[in-house]
Amino acid sequence: MNSEIINKIFPQTLKTPEELEALYPKRNLPEGAQVTRIGPSPTGFMHLGGIYMGLICSRFADQTNGIYFLRIEDTDKKREVEGAQKIIIDALDDYGLTPDEGPGHGEYGPYIQSERKDIYASYVKHLLEKGDAYVCFSTEDEIKKAGEEQESLNLKRGCYGKWATWRDVSVEKVIAELEKGTPYIIRLRSKGNSEKTFIHHDLLKGNITLPENDLDTVLLRGDGLPTYHFAHVVDDHLMRTTHVLRGDEWLSSVPAHYELFKTLGFDLPLYGHISPINKLDNGNKRKLSKRKDPEANILFFKEKGFLVQAAIEYLLNLANSDFEDWRKENPDKDYKEFTLTMKRLANSNGPLFNEVKLRDIAKEKNAKLNNIQIFENVSTWAKDYNKYFYDLLNTQKDYWLKIFNIERSGENVRKDIAVWSEVYDLYDFFDNDKFIKPDFKNLKTIFSQDEIKEILTEYSSIYNENDDKQTWLNNLKSMCVKFGLAPDIKTYKADKEAFKGHVGELTQVIRFAVTSKTQSPDLYEVMGVLGGEVVRSRLNN
Ligand code: GLU
Repeated sequence: MNSEIINKIFPQTLKTPEELEALYPKRNLPEGAQVTRIGPSPTGFMHLGGIYMGLICSRFADQTNGIYFLRIEDTDKKREVEGAQKIIIDALDDYGLTPDEGPGHGEYGPYIQSERKDIYASYVKHLLEKGDAYVCFSTEDEIKKAGEEQESLNLKRGCYGKWATWRDVSVEKVIAELEKGTPYIIRLRSKGNSEKTFIHHDLLKGNITLPENDLDTVLLRGDGLPTYHFAHVVDDHLMRTTHVLRGDEWLSSVPAHYELFKTLGFDLPLYGHISPINKLDNGNKRKLSKRKDPEANILFFKEKGFLVQAAIEYLLNLANSDFEDWRKENPDKDYKEFTLTMKRLANSNGPLFNEVKLRDIAKEKNAKLNNIQIFENVSTWAKDYNKYFYDLLNTQKDYWLKIFNIERSGENVRKDIAVWSEVYDLYDFFDNDKFIKPDFKNLKTIFSQDEIKEILTEYSSIYNENDDKQTWLNNLKSMCVKFGLAPDIKTYKADKEAFKGHVGELTQVIRFAVTSKTQSPDLYEVMGVLGGEVVRSRLNN
């Protein structure tokens, strides 16, 4: 192309493609090492899908001794939100997915696209020089009108054929517009033919026959920033990405990306197009939506207080369905010892988000923590989301450590905690100041209100906080005959006619008096932590 035009557009000194090649040489990595990346846009929101992608990319890189990096894709300035970069970086850190390279660290940066303007300019200039790109002065309005016309004629939308108005205009005309200061964009001069096809070998979708690109794709927008397409090609080449793993909504852009790689003389990376996380909405499967689904936002999980490891393992299940079996066989191994495979990921077609399943995993994982770890997690959560509970925990730390130790050892660890936000309600009866006297009318029991009073009075007289568990049990059993109960389930089952019920009926009355709940952890342990004085006052209340 005419050098006068090029100099008007790029008056600054730019590096040549050769210089850039030398600055960002091929990475020195072992054979088979995968270089992966995530490219979230700073929209002020970290999507669950972003963590899912980060996990997948980080696993493949880690498994092959490769590199997993973060690139902030902020070329759409209209969508950008203040502080959004930090949200992305913090979320990745929270989930243990800190990238090997990213903003501020790494040899292949800058890792923020808006800081790479001159790099994109170098390649655009190069393409203009080769005649593989051109200056286009169409306004947004004209482009929109052309699209509507194409639609009404049932034609493909985009810049091609007679709609590529500026593709072949004279040098004089272009210079005249530039001199007038008319805003412009830069487009690829496509050489493709959409009647021809090629085969795209996708790591996840298999071999797909696609039409060649014939659109004059926009490379640089009016503000001098690149489109996703151009930035992807330049960045993934210079950052030496080997495996472009990204959402499958980009599959239809593959033809344009192939043409761009070819035109720029770059080797193609491998592509794997990942199915997004779906959910069931009235029986229909659809993509998790930022607008409609609170769980699309990674903050949802923080607010609820899900253990990060539980969320990670849940996502691994979605990516590779055999993870669950592996976990059963290897209950104590680090999830990183599981080998994630492309093959399984390819079978994961629109995996469904299911909070119940996530809760189950969280309960299992939480049951593996000791009381100190539970305390730390709950306290960290409460610090942000429940000030009252946070203060309570930290002014009565020893007491709450004892509470969290109930049923935490031995074979049958209690699996009652799914999320930190539910802990207070589960254990609120330990908060003596807020304890609400139970209303026995709400207890489903075989006893009359008078009998209940009698039971509590009698039990209170024999209860001794220093009793060991066996004595505690024997005390309960000793009351059974008087109230027509069998001392254990076995005796009751052997002759149901002879009894009104078994010792459990009695325990339930005492549990209700002591906790105001019909379900609680082991009552003996609960009473032990509450202490004799509190228990007695609740029994006599
Ligand atoms: N910024 C793109 C997106 O958010 C990244 C896609 C990619 O990974 O290439 O969809």
